[in-house]
Amino acid sequence: MKNILIIGAGGVGRVVVHKCAQNQDVFETITLASRTKSKCDQIASELSRPIHTAAVDADNVKETVKLIRDCGAELVLNVALPYQDLTLMEACLEAGVHYLDTANYEPKDEARFSYEYQWPYHQRFAEKGLMALLGSGFDPGVTNVFCAHAQKHLFDQIDTVDILDCNAGDHGLPFATNFNPEINIREITANGRYWESGDWKETQPLEWHRPYTFPVVGEKEIYLLYHEEMESLCRNIPGLKRIRFWMTFGPSYINHLTVLQNVGMTSIEAIPFQGQQIAPIEFLKAVLPDPASLGPLTKGKTVIGNIIEGTKDGQKRKVYVYNICDHQECYAEVKSQAISYTTGVPAMIGAKLMMTGQWMQPGVWNLEQLDPDPFMNALNQHGLPWQIEDLDPDSPPVWGE
Ligand code: NDP
Repeated sequence: MKNILIIGAGGVGRVVVHKCAQNQDVFETITLASRTKSKCDQIASELSRPIHTAAVDADNVKETVKLIRDCGAELVLNVALPYQDLTLMEACLEAGVHYLDTANYEPKDEARFSYEYQWPYHQRFAEKGLMALLGSGFDPGVTNVFCAHAQKHLFDQIDTVDILDCNAGDHGLPFATNFNPEINIREITANGRYWESGDWKETQPLEWHRPYTFPVVGEKEIYLLYHEEMESLCRNIPGLKRIRFWMTFGPSYINHLTVLQNVGMTSIEAIPFQGQQIAPIEFLKAVLPDPASLGPLTKGKTVIGNIIEGTKDGQKRKVYVYNICDHQECYAEVKSQAISYTTGVPAMIGAKLMMTGQWMQPGVWNLEQLDPDPFMNALNQHGLPWQIEDLDPDSPPVWGE
C-alpha cells in the first residue's frame, strides 16, 4: 500500500495533490491536511478520484503524529510554510515515516532561512532508517538536479553556476506575489548574497541588476538575490569557484515594493495596534491578493535554469540548462499558475522516487546528493521538460569580469 500525507492546501499543495492523483500506481492512498479543512475539500472536489482530507495544526507535533498514524502514511510531503519544517520533521521521526519539503526552515521572528536547522537531523533520521529530502521544488530542487546532471554528464569540473529565475507572466494586477506573500517579501527585501572563492559576499537588497535576454520571452531585468539552494550547492559541487542567483522583477513590482518598504509595511517586527501586537508584513499578506487567485489571470511563461561554466576533456565549456513553463497551460491542467506548478511537480517527483525506492536512502539529503538521472527523466514525463543549450565559452558572463 503506497500511502502519502500532503500537508498544506495552498497554491503548491493544490498542484502536488493533482499530480499525485494522476499517478495512482505510486500514490495509492492520498490524504491532504491543512490548517483550514475547507481548502482541502475544495481541492479534493477538483479530482477524478477520491482522497481523504483532514484539519491539522502542523505546529503541533502531537496532533500531527496522531494524524500520520490515523491515516497510515509512509511519507509526509510538507507544502505548508517553512515555519513548520522542524515540527513536521519531529513528527515524522516520532511516527516513523519519511519526510519531504520544498523550502528550508525559517524562524518566524527572524528573516533568516538556512539548512543549518535541518541538516543536524541527519543522524536521527539515519538511525531510524528514515529519509528526509530537503528542497524538492524548482529552486531549490530542479536547479540542484540540473547541477548534479551537469556534474555527472556534461563537465569534469564545474567552476561557476548562475541560476536565473525568470517569471515573464502577467496577472494584470498592480501588485501581487506568485507564492506566499510573507515568505516572498522576506526573501526579496533581505540583503543580496552570493558565494565566491569560499566566502559569502553581500550586496544591498536588489542592488545588482541588469537587463538579460532570455530564450522565448526576451529581455527582462534580473536582480541578484540570496537563495537557499546556494547553501548546499557550494558544499556539494567539488571545486566550485562561484555561485549566484538572479530573479526577474518588473518595474511595477519594484515600485510597489519600494513604497511598501519605505512606509514600514514589510517589517516582521510586531507593533502594538488597537490593543494587539501585529507584524506589518502579516497584515500586508492579509490584504494582498491570494496567490491561488492569480491562476486564471496569469498569462505568459517562466524560464528557469542554470548557466554553468567549467571544463570537459580539457576544453572550456558553458551550458544553459533550463525549463520553459506556460502559466495558462498549467492552469488548464491543475488549476494553478506556473510558479505553483513548477514547485509542485518536482515535489511529487521527489516523493515518487522515494516511494518507489529509486532515491530511498536513510538520512537527510539535498537533491544534488542523489542520482540525477531518474529525476531528469521524470521531469520530461510529468510536465516540466528541460533543454540544454551549448553557449560560446567566451560569451560575456551574466555579470562582472
Ligand atoms: P500558501 O501560503 O499558498 O499555502 C500554505 C498552506 O499551508 C496554506 O494552505 C496554509 O493554511 C497551510 N498552513 C500554514 N500554516 C499551517 C499550519 N501551522 N498547519 C497546517 N497548515 C498550515 O503557500 P504556497 O503553496 O505558495 O507555498 C508552499 C510552500 O512551498 C512554502 O514553504 C513555500 O516557501 C514553498 N515554495 C517553494 C518553491 C521552490 O521552488 N522550492 C517555490 C514556491 C514556494 P491556511 O490556508 O489555512 O493559511
